[in-house]
Amino acid sequence: MRALWEYLWGVLSGAWSLAAGMGVTLRYMLQPVATVQYPRQRLPLPEAFRGPIRLRAFPDGHHCVACGECWRTCPSGVIKVQGLKAQAKDHNRARYFFIDFSRCSLCGLCVEVCPQQALAFSREYETVGPSRYLGVKDLIAALEQEEVVP
Ligand code: SF4
Ligand code: SF4
Repeated sequence: MRALWEYLWGVLSGAWSLAAGMGVTLRYMLQPVATVQYPRQRLPLPEAFRGPIRLRAFPDGHHCVACGECWRTCPSGVIKVQGLKAQAKDHNRARYFFIDFSRCSLCGLCVEVCPQQALAFSREYETVGPSRYLGVKDLIAALEQEEVVP
């Protein structure tokens, strides 16, 4: 008799467990789909999204004067800037602006300290690569391939 009760109890508890699981499945089946079929579908980025640093593009090009505030402030030491003057009376103007994105923490200090507001966060997020050495980018070369976004 005891064996029969144990058998029936096992059947009933298994049926209850199955019904509870199916209930969860049905409940989620009736809710709106929450997944996105990336990369065919993409969610809008939040306003505060911080992508890799870029030079802001102005109609006359970039506004970096190679003052060095950003590379002196950068806690990771990943910025290298070199400026040139076309003539002695001209303002300095950045000719090379390298950042090693494999070590950049996107802290934003370089954006904040820039006296020219020459830097900004991009909206880029697909930045993976096969080697960390490919993380070194020249922002001036990258700017030349961008549209003007003041
Ligand atoms: S975001 Fe921060 S870590 Fe990255 S380059 Fe700017 S100061 Fe350096
Ligand atoms: S980006 Fe701004 S802080 Fe950095 S060197 Fe250029 S002007 Fe100076």
